[in-house]
Amino acid sequence: MAEFSDKFVTQETCWICGGGEFRFQHTARFDTDFSNDAEFRAYSGLTIDIHECKACSFMQPVGLPSYPNYFDCLYENAWSEEWIEQEFNANYMDGIFNTVLTRLERLLPKTARSLLDFGTHV
Ligand SMILES: [Zn+2]
Repeated sequence: MAEFSDKFVTQETCWICGGGEFRFQHTARFDTDFSNDAEFRAYSGLTIDIHECKACSFMQPVGLPSYPNYFDCLYENAWSEEWIEQEFNANYMDGIFNTVLTRLERLLPKTARSLLDFGTHV
């Protein structure tokens, strides 16, 4: 775990409710090979566990990248027109949205909702 402590800042509490108890959900892999920034690219191939808050069910990583420019590098990537079109036409995003919306429907029926802003790309 030495690599984790060097590259990540542990997130002790839930970003949504402040809870501190989680259950493991899955492991995500970083793919940052597209960047010219060497420190950012060093995250490529690393993994991080995604866990779910036991109090509110929000899922988040156990840590955030410690590299201060990590998110600047991530969002400065100039995606090609072809890549954007491919992502737009790909079916897998529909699957992700449908899964999220189905789970939301179970948690909170449409009649009980007024507005929902994920702010997380999904
Ligand atoms: Zn929570």
